Amino acid sequence: MADASPQTASQLRQHIIFLGPPGAGKGTQAARLSAYLGIPCISTGEMLREAITRKTPLGRKAEPIMAQGGLVPDDLLVAMIEERIREKDCEKGCILDGFPRTLPQAQSLERLVGNGLPNLVVFDMEVPRDELMRRLSGRQRHDDRGPAVHRRLAEYDERTVPLIDYFRSRARFHRVDGFRDVEEVQGELRSLLSQR
Ligand code: ADP
Repeated sequence: MADASPQTASQLRQHIIFLGPPGAGKGTQAARLSAYLGIPCISTGEMLREAITRKTPLGRKAEPIMAQGGLVPDDLLVAMIEERIREKDCEKGCILDGFPRTLPQAQSLERLVGNGLPNLVVFDMEVPRDELMRRLSGRQRHDDRGPAVHRRLAEYDERTVPLIDYFRSRARFHRVDGFRDVEEVQGELRSLLSQR
């Protein structure tokens, strides 16, 4: 074949999504994988916390919701991700940590990545609930304490868990045991990615 057709070029893009409850280790694994693959890691939680620090209009809206452990409205998240994904550093793809978290967000993603969900890799990190509580209580983040933790886990069960079935049938889906050593989990992720 001569030059890469637009379709071939888009297939070279790699989009990776991390699903899993708060405390499962998504952020840690996503950051390591980002360094290894040389594609950016986009954490919606971090972007929102930055917006709060900078007191942007988005930050002002998100702050009280996040403090209570709720989910920030879909339209705000989709607009934020859309803008970020269009940046030059995402042209070879990106790793998404914390997005999508709801069905409408997942549906928007197909449009945003533009190369179809079958090219997407989804890692669902699973960790037993008592271990999650232990991990979260050891972090110092302010939504890791009190009723906000329970609300976040409840939101996860209610609104994010349905994405497991959604992606299982539409993307390359892998369930990963997150109750293991960080390096061991990372090794499994890399080996799953190499099995194309
Ligand atoms: P964790 O995965 O440990 O709960 P994050 O840093 O990913 O933490 O997210 C923190 C908070 O940011 C969430 O509890 C939620 O309020 C908000 N948030 C992050 N991503 C999204 C999203 N995709 N949709 C709605 N709210 C979000």
